[in-house]
Amino acid sequence: NKPIIYAITPTFSRPVQKAELTRLAQTFLHIPNFHWIVVEDSSSKTKLVTRFLENSGLIYTHLAVITPPNYKLGRTDANWKKPRGVEQRNAALRWLRENLKPTDNGIVYFADDDNTYSIKLFYEMEKIKKVGVWPVGLVGGLMVEKPICDNVTNKVIGFNAGWKPDRPFPLDMAGFAINLRLLLEHKDAEFSYDVEGGYQESEILRQIVTRDELEPLADCCMKVYVWHTRTEDPKLKMEQLLIKKGRRSNI
Ligand code: UDP
Ligand code: MN
Repeated sequence: NKPIIYAITPTFSRPVQKAELTRLAQTFLHIPNFHWIVVEDSSSKTKLVTRFLENSGLIYTHLAVITPPNYKLGRTDANWKKPRGVEQRNAALRWLRENLKPTDNGIVYFADDDNTYSIKLFYEMEKIKKVGVWPVGLVGGLMVEKPICDNVTNKVIGFNAGWKPDRPFPLDMAGFAINLRLLLEHKDAEFSYDVEGGYQESEILRQIVTRDELEPLADCCMKVYVWHTRTEDPKLKMEQLLIKKGRRSNI
């Protein structure tokens, strides 16, 4: 009786979007007990994402909610200035609370659209009673950022984070998942714009769990099953020239 893995993915329109979603979908297709919650950062659902999901072969829920303009990261803003995905992740949490009940067996994971996920990560998540944690590759200025796990007690005894190590939970969004029951019990727990950069993970976790309750997974946090990869913006100089002439390559 496996839990259903609910993966929440905020996503926004840009040249690489379909490529990112394709890479994710083809990983997720390997997971039988999987439900994808895709939340577009857009005032309504786009055709591209709608058609993509229809043809994906996955079980999914498609939502759309736009980031308020005053919170939207500008093209020239440094990327740590404003949090991304807050509105979208909260909309997904609302959907879970409105559509699922405490007896439903589920795990909730925040899966950004540009990261790289091993199938093994999802098998690990199935063990989670409250909140599971594990290493994340290529984040925080490190090859691997991870909880420090005591292999005698199998407990989290610290974190190796180099970036803002004083955070209540110095973890990346990709480095934990939550038992659905906990999110239904703490029905007001959500992400917030009113926190310092890099504190979104701490914000949600402090509302539902304590540090000593964290469950280290992935071999006592010795294995890396997810990487915080970031995709370079493609150079589209030629495309822009075409567009000026009223044409484009993708029609
Ligand atoms: N995102 C979004 N709207 C935006 C920027 C980002 O919905 O304006 C999504 C993005 O697709 C990703 C998540 O929010 O799933 C986190 O963004 P990003 O990967 O840029 O964050 P970082 O890699 O810097 O942590
Ligand atoms: Mn990212």
